[in-house]
Amino acid sequence: MSTYDVAVIGSGPGGYVAAIRCAQLGMKTAIIEKYSTLGGTCLNVGCIPSKALLDSSHHYEHAVKHFADHGIEIPGDVKINLEKMIARKQAVVDQTTGGVDFLMKKNKIERYEGIGSFKDSTHVNITKSDNSVETIEAKNIIIATGSKPSSLPFITIDKKRVITSTQALKLKEVPKHLVIIGGGVIGLELGQVYRRLGAEVSVVEYMDRIIPGMDKALSRELQKVMKKQGVKFYTSHKVTGVKATAKQVTITADDKKGNPVEFKGDYCLVSVGRHPYTDGLNTEAAGVKLTDRGQVEVNDHLQTSVSNIYAIGDVVKGAMLAHKAEEEGVFVAETLAGQKPHIDYNLIPGVVYTWPEVAAVGKTEEELKEAGVKYKSGQFPFRALGRSRASADLDGFVKILADETTDEVLGVHMVGARCADLIAEAVTAMEFRASAEDISRMSHAHPTFTEAIKEAALAATDNRPLHV
Ligand SMILES: Cc1cc2nc3c(=O)[nH]c(=O)nc-3n(C[C@H](O)[C@H](O)[C@H](O)COP(=O)(O)OP(=O)(O)OC[C@H]3O[C@@H](n4cnc5c(N)ncnc54)[C@H](O)[C@@H]3O)c2cc1C
Repeated sequence: MSTYDVAVIGSGPGGYVAAIRCAQLGMKTAIIEKYSTLGGTCLNVGCIPSKALLDSSHHYEHAVKHFADHGIEIPGDVKINLEKMIARKQAVVDQTTGGVDFLMKKNKIERYEGIGSFKDSTHVNITKSDNSVETIEAKNIIIATGSKPSSLPFITIDKKRVITSTQALKLKEVPKHLVIIGGGVIGLELGQVYRRLGAEVSVVEYMDRIIPGMDKALSRELQKVMKKQGVKFYTSHKVTGVKATAKQVTITADDKKGNPVEFKGDYCLVSVGRHPYTDGLNTEAAGVKLTDRGQVEVNDHLQTSVSNIYAIGDVVKGAMLAHKAEEEGVFVAETLAGQKPHIDYNLIPGVVYTWPEVAAVGKTEEELKEAGVKYKSGQFPFRALGRSRASADLDGFVKILADETTDEVLGVHMVGARCADLIAEAVTAMEFRASAEDISRMSHAHPTFTEAIKEAALAATDNRPLHV
């Protein structure tokens, strides 16, 4: 039987990063993945393919709607070749998952293909595609089995007309009318892809606003801009039923006033969140406890109820984000090596890759109010920047929330062009506990979108932005 210092179950961004860090720290490491490609949800059916389609559809929309403004004329019609677009997305995925293969080999991490399930607290059975079972032994085991799309009890996901994000990433036609249940990140990103490609898109959301976990100002601005782009929103609508025929889906809901309404589309994307995935893991055999919500229960060291078994990423509490999973993978590896790592969960940024992009870190205005923290707020609109005018990306703003007394930055919330990248400045500043004035006194290259951060900081410090 092969023996290891560490066995990692699951090869998503949590698992493969944990394995690399364990190997870097000199541990003999194995990784077990049930699918034939590494990289988990993120690389195969999540972050990477969705961004590839967002980029492709963005190019198409620019070509159709905006090239002419730049003096670029295309003789004849611009056409979509969806099959090619999806094939390009798959090529990006293949290249990226292949990169993880390379990293496993480079770091001498032993790879096992099959379903990992606990035999006991130090042994994992690996069931392969031919049903043979191999058992390995490991001093420490990291559970990184991720999550799967959730649904509602009365919805049957037939994967043809009623679909999850996984099928939405490989449709064979552009929907005529895509009805999306859920106005969260995944629904909005995929909704924008198909809206750009010509679909009518309706978003039906139970809460009174889209991206409900984020600062209210971001929800308002994104909804306003996406509405201008043609997406229809039905907030405060409670979906009550979904019925599919061969070519049509009917979604029933109760509107704000409790009146029944109906949506008819050719596809219905169910994006109501994701749930932790532990099927087949046989956690009981090792004595690993789960929470009521099906997550693997962990303490502050990401240690489960069994001291040599850890769990990270989507399968444990916290934001379901790839970079959160990665941080936790590194955290556990360094803990196993006897180090004292640290994660500040308050400083894990959240991003929506629509255009305009949405990004945030730290506390929202609603959270500060609820906690009774006295704060100042400074906001700056992108439309006042030369860089925004040059690229015609005028929507959105940066909002900085700072402590009223100390001026320490408590939260940064932005919607606009390239915010997914801009948020890194806010994370850095907050990691070093910068004040709004610190940011306002740093030189920001001109012309760049980052100038909106400096200006918002000036507005938060003592209400003296330079360009509005
Ligand atoms: C459409 C979409 C877009 C997204 N976009 C973003 C984004 O832009 N940015 C972002 O930060 N996050 C994004 N996410 C979320 C992100 O994908 C997850 O947060 C991330 O993948 C979680 O990583 P993980 O390692 O915990 O689990 P996963 O990536 O889910 O990986 C778990 C792996 O474990 C394997 N596994 C499960 N059980 C077993 C078993 N018993 N034996 C062997 N293998 C097993 C699974 O096959 C899987 O490969 C997106 C998700 C979706 C669906």
